[in-house]
Amino acid sequence: MNRLLNRVGADRVPALDGRVLEDVVPSTGQVWGTMPRSGADDVQAAVAAARVAQPAWGARSVEHRARVLEAVADGLEERADAIAAMESEDQGKPVTLARRVDAPRAAANFRFFASLVRTESLPATAHRSGWHQAMRQPIGVVGLITPWNLPLYLLTWKLAPALACGNAVVAKPSELTPRTADLLWDVLEEAGVPAGVANLVHGLGAEAGAPIVAHPDVDCVSFTGGTVTGRAVAAAAAPTFKKLSLELGGKNPTVILPDADLDAAAVGAAWAAFTNQGEICLCGSRILVHRSQHDALVERLVAAASALTVGDPRAEGTDVGALVSAAHRDKVEGYLRLAVEEGGTVHGGARPSLRAPFDGGFFLHPAVVTGLAASCRTATEEIFGPVVTVHAYDTVDEAIAMANGVAYGLSATVWGRDTQRIQAVAEALHAGMVWINGWMVRDLRTPFGGWKHSGVGREGGTWSLDVYSELKTVTWCR
Ligand code: NDP
Repeated sequence: MNRLLNRVGADRVPALDGRVLEDVVPSTGQVWGTMPRSGADDVQAAVAAARVAQPAWGARSVEHRARVLEAVADGLEERADAIAAMESEDQGKPVTLARRVDAPRAAANFRFFASLVRTESLPATAHRSGWHQAMRQPIGVVGLITPWNLPLYLLTWKLAPALACGNAVVAKPSELTPRTADLLWDVLEEAGVPAGVANLVHGLGAEAGAPIVAHPDVDCVSFTGGTVTGRAVAAAAAPTFKKLSLELGGKNPTVILPDADLDAAAVGAAWAAFTNQGEICLCGSRILVHRSQHDALVERLVAAASALTVGDPRAEGTDVGALVSAAHRDKVEGYLRLAVEEGGTVHGGARPSLRAPFDGGFFLHPAVVTGLAASCRTATEEIFGPVVTVHAYDTVDEAIAMANGVAYGLSATVWGRDTQRIQAVAEALHAGMVWINGWMVRDLRTPFGGWKHSGVGREGGTWSLDVYSELKTVTWCR
């Protein structure tokens, strides 16, 4: 039986009370090993270690910290294949996707923030009142709480800028996907991150996540996860006035304009809906198409969905792996039943029959749902699985109203040809990111985050540095 441990200061330790949680492989349902089921005392020890280690790390030069971050990137790149295989086994995603997205992006996050802190310049102004200089300083101890869908990708997205800015951290990954965080901590150690600067506490949200958020000695919390959890995190953080960054859920529209290339739009919409089993906050889970093209689009989309190979995540030809847990598959299937109750027609969405050991895994065929009102629960609540709903509109204004008619506002995609109209639609959408004729294309220098219930604040580029540092203006008075 494999056994993960917490990383507190220089030590690898079990939970203080010895409790453990099991880590299950989503594609087989078999137990891989255990991790500590940490509680408030374990968090306390991690925060104390971080508090002791932070001042020396914060006092190192930006150049020193950037070099350490680059060494982390090197270490991650050397292990890219191992990371992809591990993430695929632990999360359920196809290894081909983990190789293309998760592993390289984890390394890129460290390389990018190393370069950004080296090159960023802040204003220093000569004014009749005096000399003013703006500077960044570390916040202190930062809590990082991350979800299971892109485990290493999202943890490094927060950890790299937090360390670059001179903070110490206490991280809690999702207990469903703890393994690549453990590997990352080996890399941090090798790369020269001093003991106590990065601490890792495994466990459940309520038992290990909540004490990080409420801890008076944690100066900032960066959270990525569901909107309901985000609300609890915001409420728990409020009494201590700590800095807070919230990257939350989405119910993102794919708007297909009447002049779009329908073949390209159907392929793109399927890719946006079903990548990573639909378990990406940015997935396009509602497709809005002109009524005249509705049936043709549905035909293409259903064909594209049923052509996807569902099964063994290790196989090179697999398009859709396993959902992350039995409970999550139950939740997604619950939404498919709800869709029928709400008057929809579900195309696909069955459990595949697979040979052992994958017959014990949490697989589901992608589903295309038609015939629903855009305002029903299936079409407005985040399902976070391989399910997409399709809705017809008559005018572009109606499409915009439908796109904006949910509580979320994370991202959107627009397919079309008329550049002026596309730009006008992109500007009218209530979303933090809008892709035109594509999906999930990122430049790490740009802001990332959601409107409305999809988040508070932005990360990415200097916006991440704003989250993980305190800005100060020093003025030499004339
Ligand atoms: P959850 O909100 O359930 O959990 C996120 C993390 O928070 C987990 O580590 C979880 O631990 C922890 N947690 C749970 N309860 C608390 C609490 N009371 N206090 C502190 N921490 C807590 O999200 P999921 O893991 O299910 O991830 C899916 C969600 O993440 C989706 O809604 C998705 O849209 C969103 N997401 C948003 C992204 C964005 O950038 N906007 C990117 C990726 C995902 P535990 O695992 O034990 O519950």
